[in-house]
Amino acid sequence: MRIARAQGVGGEIFYGIITDEWFQPIVGSPFEHELDTMQPLGQPMALSSVRLLAPCQPSKIVCVGRNYAEHAAEHGVEVPKEPLIFLKPPSAVAGPNDPIVLTSLSQQVEHEAELVAVVRVRARRLTLENALDCLLGYTCGNDVTARDLQRRDGQWSRAKGFDTFCPLGPWIETELDPSDQEVSCRVNGQVRQQGSTRDMVFDMKALLVYVTAVMTLEPGDVLMTGTPSGVSPIVSGDVVDVSVSGVGVLRNPVQLPAV
Ligand code: MG
Repeated sequence: MRIARAQGVGGEIFYGIITDEWFQPIVGSPFEHELDTMQPLGQPMALSSVRLLAPCQPSKIVCVGRNYAEHAAEHGVEVPKEPLIFLKPPSAVAGPNDPIVLTSLSQQVEHEAELVAVVRVRARRLTLENALDCLLGYTCGNDVTARDLQRRDGQWSRAKGFDTFCPLGPWIETELDPSDQEVSCRVNGQVRQQGSTRDMVFDMKALLVYVTAVMTLEPGDVLMTGTPSGVSPIVSGDVVDVSVSGVGVLRNPVQLPAV
């Protein structure tokens, strides 16, 4: 099932279910109801008539660094012995087709295509056995990074925290095997990254166990699981497509900040 958040022509915002070319709004949100008890709200809308938004509104965005060996190697760093986690602020979230807005503070902003897990129910101290049960499903994410600031600062809050530096979407796929999906990035149609979640250093279950030993994950929170090799700079006018097989394509144009 594909679950999306969308704005109708009148400006109202709904969660809903996408089927073919239709968006069926639901009562409330998928974080309040079991999937099989969600109720339709009104008539389906043509998908082309609604604006898709980021598919959830996370209270926090937990990210994993260096979770693909080839990506760690391209930055000349070792794969960590334990997951290397950091946070992006919720203010960085952008939706499908929203612009990634560059910053005058950086000369090197780069894309990072990632598989993203979306939490459905509050989760703490998960185990390998129950880890995936807390999830609603999976979406695509772009962990946009000001690489020069990341190097300069030594920690990553500024480099990864600019407004619009966390595009998410286009929807949440509820039925997906996270252990064997292709994660790729195209810029202006040209392939820059192409990897498989098979090559993650720490898999989805291990990451959820590790993170929830530290912090409680709330409904709508997201876990960004790291990026394969091939990260590269993006500039104004580029169009960036992050795709995860079995989910879809998250497209964002890149633009300069307003003066
Ligand atoms: Mg990343």
